Amino acid sequence: MSKIIASAAIRGAHKIAKQAEDILTKAIKEKGEDCKVEFPNTGYHMPIIYSMTARPVEKLADFKEVLQEIKGLLPPPVDDDLWLPYLGQALNAGMATLFAEEIIEACKYLIGPNPVDGIWLGAADDIILRERGIQFVDGTAPGFAAIVGAAPDVETAVNIARKLQERYLYVFMSAHNNGTTFAEQLIEGGVQLGWETRLVPFGREITSAIYALGFASRAALSFGGVQAGDFRRNLLYNKNRIFAFVMAMGEVTDEWYATAAGAINYGFPVIADSDIPEILPTGVCTYEHVVSNIPYDQIVEKAIEVRGLKIKITEIPIPVSVSPAFEGERIRKEEMHCEFGGQRTPAFEWLRMRDISEVEDASVEVKGADVDSLEVGGKMPLGIIVEVAGRKMQPDFEPVLERHIHTFMNEAQGLWHMGQRDINWIRISKDAAKAGFKLEHIGKLLHAKLHDEYSSILDKVQVKIFTDQKQVEELRKQALAIFAERDTRLAGMQDEDVETFYSCTLCQSFAPNHVCVVSPERPGLCGAYSWLDCRAAFEITPSGPNQPISKGNCIETTIGQWDKVNAFVLKTSGGNVERMSQYSMITDPMTSCGCFECIAAVLPSTGGIMIVNREFPEMTPCGMKFSTLAGTVGGGQQTPGFIGHSKHYINSRKFIAAEGGIKRIVWMPTILKEEIKDAIAERVKEIGLTPEEFLAKIADETSAVTEEEVLEFITKNEHLVTTLEPMF
Ligand code: SF4
Ligand code: ZN
Repeated sequence: MSKIIASAAIRGAHKIAKQAEDILTKAIKEKGEDCKVEFPNTGYHMPIIYSMTARPVEKLADFKEVLQEIKGLLPPPVDDDLWLPYLGQALNAGMATLFAEEIIEACKYLIGPNPVDGIWLGAADDIILRERGIQFVDGTAPGFAAIVGAAPDVETAVNIARKLQERYLYVFMSAHNNGTTFAEQLIEGGVQLGWETRLVPFGREITSAIYALGFASRAALSFGGVQAGDFRRNLLYNKNRIFAFVMAMGEVTDEWYATAAGAINYGFPVIADSDIPEILPTGVCTYEHVVSNIPYDQIVEKAIEVRGLKIKITEIPIPVSVSPAFEGERIRKEEMHCEFGGQRTPAFEWLRMRDISEVEDASVEVKGADVDSLEVGGKMPLGIIVEVAGRKMQPDFEPVLERHIHTFMNEAQGLWHMGQRDINWIRISKDAAKAGFKLEHIGKLLHAKLHDEYSSILDKVQVKIFTDQKQVEELRKQALAIFAERDTRLAGMQDEDVETFYSCTLCQSFAPNHVCVVSPERPGLCGAYSWLDCRAAFEITPSGPNQPISKGNCIETTIGQWDKVNAFVLKTSGGNVERMSQYSMITDPMTSCGCFECIAAVLPSTGGIMIVNREFPEMTPCGMKFSTLAGTVGGGQQTPGFIGHSKHYINSRKFIAAEGGIKRIVWMPTILKEEIKDAIAERVKEIGLTPEEFLAKIADETSAVTEEEVLEFITKNEHLVTTLEPMF
């Protein structure tokens, strides 16, 4: 943080802390230590103090401890020349400021001046929080602009407020600039204020800014499932889910700096009209922390850009809400109206590029019966073909867009999606069905979302949905041929040929610590993302979930560890995964989310491994069915001895190379054998076998169900694993 800002923030924090101490002394003198303190009709006590420290302030005396906490957080006062290299001190000062401001405002409710006065509303009560806070979660309100100070004139104030309203943002107002306030300017301009118009005047002093940040904290506690005291998650929730920023208008005082430093803790950046020092490098906030000197006619656009806010003006014409907030929602069997795929019915999803003349934008065709023909708990086949066209579209982008069908569908409330390609699995909830959700809505959703996110490459999108069993099976064959073609595009390319791998963190909505590291010889474990796909995805969305990782120095060749890959994984796994091997399932294996096509598991007594694919529902020699195994392996943990992986990875020269590769496989289901037979031909030639000979040495469900039977089988058939070193 710039030293000027840091020292100003620290100075301001000291001033506000002093103010808090004074007013608290006064309040205790007038009302006594046992006097109850609260923001009227609100839960969560003093919401910032409570959410950050779990301290439930109930009476004035409780504030004394908070004052101690504030003193602990406050860095010593500094003068302007002192060099402060770290953001940390100013951030602590900012948090201390917010605690102190809560003390001040709460005392004002007791001894005056009452924060609720004329146009000023003070704390939002719980009814408002419920009504309005949910809008931040379901996406009807993307966030809020906390305006501090006043515009240079009434007209500018009105223009800025209108622009923010048009973007569905709430405008929270506090503080005055030389006596003038933004709220009073709006009133003068004939603008109606209040929660209904989303223009909310909190108070004339900077301390009333805590009503905005307190609102954000309460939203995290009540809608984000964040526990009191879990300040890290509270701040992350706000950074990631509540798109808020501070717009500072007018002379920035020390107290403003201090309060702004508090807001930066939440990941809310500061946009200023005045010439204050900028803090551009990113860290706590999504993008910059402080940008200044912005002309008034650009300030709203700038704020939206800096906060990384994407506002969806278009309503998606389907009967359920669509928001990233629903992405992690599950639909259990009891809540389900019907389902598709998931090995219960044939299903697939396939996105392909067409000539622009062949696509009629927004057309959605449903061929076959619809969901209203099903009883509760029913199932039917489902084929989804999305056809896209655009001047910038390339065939290489097909798999990238296709993989997003997963995310898009999960964003609809009451719709659940798992898997990809021909192993997808979809559920529609009872509530969604009751609301009138039909298959055409899947098409409308995909059309809207694809346009929304990929307008830079797509001009037209049409969707065809099939439910007739024969037709679905027929079309699925075509899709499978294309998937196979995609998988072979990388043939011949080796990990050693490239300096850069790619990450995929698309599945972090389900498995927050999971990162797929995708290299030419190891595709993403869902099987839908190859190295080429990740490269294309990065080209389309440079700030998206697929980032280039320069390998750096090799730490260990056999297991495949590089220093920069490890550093990347550590950072993107939220500090949970320190080391990750690209080629080992024993030493620091890659984590698994839940989308893997296959699971490989060590069968200790055989010295080998078994592989089971998602389509195989029966018992396996490790004593677990696929579904149970998936629960053990998934969720973003490293589980030595187990990995989730794609089918294509089995044919890779780097398939568990550290453990001896395909020679380790002692068991897999017949359907998987059948599926990989042709693709594996080249690999097994290297070990001097034909695919038939190779596969015949591997046990399957017809020859072995238990680990002992596998051991018997491989001993009898002189399996190659017997020539390898033990695994451990
Ligand atoms: Fe990306 Fe891996 Fe999820 Fe596939 S499984 S979408 S590669 S994170
Ligand atoms: Zn996944």
